Amino acid sequence: MRNILLSLAVSTMLVLSSAAQQSAQPSGASGGAANPHFDGSSWWNYVKVLASDDMEGRETGSPALRHAEEYVVEQLQADGLEPAGANGFYQAIKFESRQVVESGSSLALVHGKQVEPLSFSDDAFFSTRVDLAPSIEAPLVFVGYGLSVPEKNYDDFAGLDLKGKVAVIVAGAPADIPGALASHYQSPAERSKALRKAGAIGTVVILNPASMDIPWARISANRTHPSMSLQGAEFDETAGQKLLVIFNPARAEKLFEGSGHKLQEIMDLAKARKPLPRFPLAFSIRAKAEVNKKELESSNVIAKLPGSDSKLQNEFVVLSAHIDHIGIGEPINGDRIYNGAMDNAAGSAVLLDTAAAFRKASNKPRRSVLFVFLTGEEKGLLGSRYFTAYPTVKPGSMVADINIDMFLPIVPLKVLTIYGLGESSLGELAKETAQSLGVRSQPDPEPQRNAFIRSDQYNFIRRGIPALAMGVGFDPGSPEQQVFKDWLTRRYHAPSDDLNQPVDLSAAAKYEDIVRMLMLRVADNPERPAWNPDSFFRRYAGMGAGGL
Ligand SMILES: [Zn+2]
Repeated sequence: MRNILLSLAVSTMLVLSSAAQQSAQPSGASGGAANPHFDGSSWWNYVKVLASDDMEGRETGSPALRHAEEYVVEQLQADGLEPAGANGFYQAIKFESRQVVESGSSLALVHGKQVEPLSFSDDAFFSTRVDLAPSIEAPLVFVGYGLSVPEKNYDDFAGLDLKGKVAVIVAGAPADIPGALASHYQSPAERSKALRKAGAIGTVVILNPASMDIPWARISANRTHPSMSLQGAEFDETAGQKLLVIFNPARAEKLFEGSGHKLQEIMDLAKARKPLPRFPLAFSIRAKAEVNKKELESSNVIAKLPGSDSKLQNEFVVLSAHIDHIGIGEPINGDRIYNGAMDNAAGSAVLLDTAAAFRKASNKPRRSVLFVFLTGEEKGLLGSRYFTAYPTVKPGSMVADINIDMFLPIVPLKVLTIYGLGESSLGELAKETAQSLGVRSQPDPEPQRNAFIRSDQYNFIRRGIPALAMGVGFDPGSPEQQVFKDWLTRRYHAPSDDLNQPVDLSAAAKYEDIVRMLMLRVADNPERPAWNPDSFFRRYAGMGAGGL
């Protein structure tokens, strides 16, 4: 899953843990002959390969990711799937990578003759998610959440003069804006649109402690890791934005000096998800950015399981998962390899396991199934953005996307969280499927984390394709909630998201049963999935994939 920091941009030894061993079922499938149940062990075997140190954290554009993809292609071939990329199983994509050279860069707050330099490690740093101007000095205006939501008559920019200025925002949204809507308008594309319209040339994002998955020290440690964008003007969502700065909430008080407001007042309101005041700040920001740019290439991997119905086989149910992770970074406890076992070797492994299961199953889906292993997710959902713009199957032939990203089988699967539950007929179908396997469902319990727009399903949604993502969930206030919170704080985007962590193999197996059953139901249903009449995302329906 994509770091929240990126989603805010204007724009995851082969020793089984004891928990895994306890929950491991004997290998060998059980259940009906047509669709034997998964056992968790076949899944884990794939995870072990993809998240091994040999794969070096699968960074987009790296030879190691290519190596992981070659392994995936070998498995798909062995399972008898057909290539469905642009060149065999592959769809090559060109990227530009940008990296800040801090020795040639600086940030400062300026008020008259007073110049207060900012420390990159402690105060604030550049995000290269936008094409940073080499040098800029502009007044700062606090615009609350920096959101414009026409459907709710909500506009943080209303009545403010932002022409040529830099917007200072707190990550988040007020509670009375529904989660999906709030997520949508916090997406880089939508936020850029609002900023452009208001005349703002840049953004300073104060991270919201209430929604920070990772402590500042870890975020800051990898701040100069390259960011990437798709080559091609048609993919530039942040055009006109010259500055993006991420600010440490623990050091943001200085921004408000002389403004008549205190940081604490703002953060208390933000924590309660209440409306925020908006007002000019006393400072300008002075920024000098030296950026190294490089071109590189990385591929999606796409495979097809042809449907059994002569007519429906021309339509596709997409099962997607990103295979990339964040590579090699700053060492934590001496470990520099960010293996990304749960994020998202785990999801890619579900695709491989499902593909292999189909080979053994007696009943084949009526519609075709497209297995899509996406690159560039951690860089801003880039592989899915490219795939949905330039699909390798006929535009409009993709009836649904079931995306798997960081589904976290770290506790028993009693509750399934369905992202997009209330948006399309897929939601109800997923809920019924889970129920038939004795699993309750719930909508996203933490909409403020923006999970709905933080993974690849979002690009399918933007092309009108009903989509959802599902994860192992927890009941609010339960001990499991703490397990998830600890995981995010300690392992999310850290080297410890590796093969030496407790996983629940029975949870993974049950999750795979749900995914496969759901996929079959969608593939066999004569009717295509549809957006719910009251879904905000219905507006994209009928747009189809292809073109821009
Ligand atoms: Zn991630």
